[in-house]
Amino acid sequence: MLTVCNYHYIRENFEAKYPSIFGVTPKQFKDQLLKLKNEGEFISSTQLVGNTDLILNSKDNFCLITFDDGLKEQFNLGLSIMENLSIPALFFANSINHLENKVSTVHKIHLLRSVLDSDIILKNIQKIHVDKLEGLNVSKVKSVYTYDDEKSAVLKYFLNFILNYKEQELVIDNLFSKYFNETEVLNNLYMSLENLKALASLGYLGSHTHSHYPLGLLEEKSILKELSVSKKYLELHTKSKIETVAYPYGSKEACTLEVKDLAKKAGYKLGFTTKRGLNLNNQNRLLLNRFDCNDLIGGKNYKL
Ligand SMILES: [Zn+2]
Repeated sequence: MLTVCNYHYIRENFEAKYPSIFGVTPKQFKDQLLKLKNEGEFISSTQLVGNTDLILNSKDNFCLITFDDGLKEQFNLGLSIMENLSIPALFFANSINHLENKVSTVHKIHLLRSVLDSDIILKNIQKIHVDKLEGLNVSKVKSVYTYDDEKSAVLKYFLNFILNYKEQELVIDNLFSKYFNETEVLNNLYMSLENLKALASLGYLGSHTHSHYPLGLLEEKSILKELSVSKKYLELHTKSKIETVAYPYGSKEACTLEVKDLAKKAGYKLGFTTKRGLNLNNQNRLLLNRFDCNDLIGGKNYKL
């Protein structure tokens, strides 16, 4: 069986005016890895791709550590901790940050929410999309964003699932440019191409698609494009084979059966969702379950 443990931000300090960026400190990360070490055997992406049936069929627990979003802090802080403990990892990066020199909208939202109250952001959206905010099913919203307070959950759900990505980008780009310098954020937040090459040479690199959209909500042509553009870009520039993909958001809406089929068509061997659970032999290879680090031993939400 396979347990996948996923991380996003890793930094020493998460303080902000409106705390909305969450993750682990290097110490928490190391402590959790040491706990996970007692639960099973760590494997690399290469081992998993090469022996998927064997690993999923096994009674032994194999554990894969993954990071989403291609953040520089993951390379600078996470990788060295893992190397010191001789634990392999898999990092999923988006290509839009490199190919188009753009900050992903999802990160623009994280940054805006750390300097602005969610209400102010919602009010800005309301000016343009008042009709769409009215019929929102709050209990559904809360079930998607279980870690957020109601106001933040409504804002996130609305941005990610109600507005189409063009509408979302328009609203967010406008606000973002008032508070941040995109080039500066780009250079500080994301891994450099050199970082990606270093990861690829270790077999540690996978795709998080091109633009970090919820794929299941897009048209077939756009889904395939999101999957293929990032794969080709990463393969060309890191001279490696990219065989794994983590679907942005990873929820049911984002990871439909169509998405799984198109990922296979694009040439991926393994696809990762954010659906909690172990992976046993009957698990579809392109819809693998993945725990958020908070939900596993040593994590904030873990209960015995
Ligand atoms: Zn992501």
